[in-house]
Amino acid sequence: MQAPIAILRFAPPRLTLWQRLTGQGFARWQAGDLLGVLPDGSAFLRLYSLASGSRDGFVETVVRKQPGGLCSGQLVELQPGGTVRAFLRRNPGFSAGRGREPLILIGAGTGIGRLAGFIRAYRRHRPMHLFFGMRHEGSEFLYREELTEWNGAGCLSRLVTTTSRGERPHHVQDALRNEAAEVARLTCAGAR
Ligand SMILES: Cc1cc2nc3c(=O)[nH]c(=O)nc-3n(C[C@H](O)[C@H](O)[C@H](O)COP(=O)(O)OP(=O)(O)OC[C@H]3O[C@@H](n4cnc5c(N)ncnc54)[C@H](O)[C@@H]3O)c2cc1C
Repeated sequence: MQAPIAILRFAPPRLTLWQRLTGQGFARWQAGDLLGVLPDGSAFLRLYSLASGSRDGFVETVVRKQPGGLCSGQLVELQPGGTVRAFLRRNPGFSAGRGREPLILIGAGTGIGRLAGFIRAYRRHRPMHLFFGMRHEGSEFLYREELTEWNGAGCLSRLVTTTSRGERPHHVQDALRNEAAEVARLTCAGAR
């Protein structure tokens, strides 16, 4: 059976005046930073990539339930209004940068979360090219509505999706190979 995937959206925790003034805790964060979650019944945290930034006003992440997984199991079973114990970990190594050069975003499965966060944040300022791989289109085309809307509105210059299971398996690396000339052109033009 396909492991369930959930897009989880939390309200950010209330901040103290000190946190607000100094930008600490959940005062400022960006897509690609990490959410450290402490599940009930374990002293060890699990990390999840953030699919939103502080400007969005919500804390979003995409979680795949691992077979027998403690934390992912608790997260995908959360009900509206549920809470988690979590903290923010910056991840400056995974950032879109501040420039206006095009972005080539490549990801699969839950990896779409932080890429969708980048598109939401930069769509008005930078050309975006997204290559997104999933197992099944029916159950794993996450952010389908937003991506279709962003693509239609011209915010996404290119949206390429692949499905790796089914009659005609196609992987994201196959799509990149098909578009090699365009990817090379963009890279030579300074794309990140
Ligand atoms: C930088 C980073 C970013 C990440 N981002 C994401 C993200 O955006 N989304 C996401 O879904 N995940 C992400 N992960 C993975 C996530 O942190 C967890 O590792 C994942 O959710 C599994 O945690 P769990 O508590 O559910 O599983 P655990 O309970 O820790 O178990 C993990 C696996 O081990 C198996 N297992 C556990 N105990 C045993 C045992 N005694 N014997 C045999 N097998 C066992 C379980 O069946 C399970 O498959 C990220 C990880 C890192 C490091």
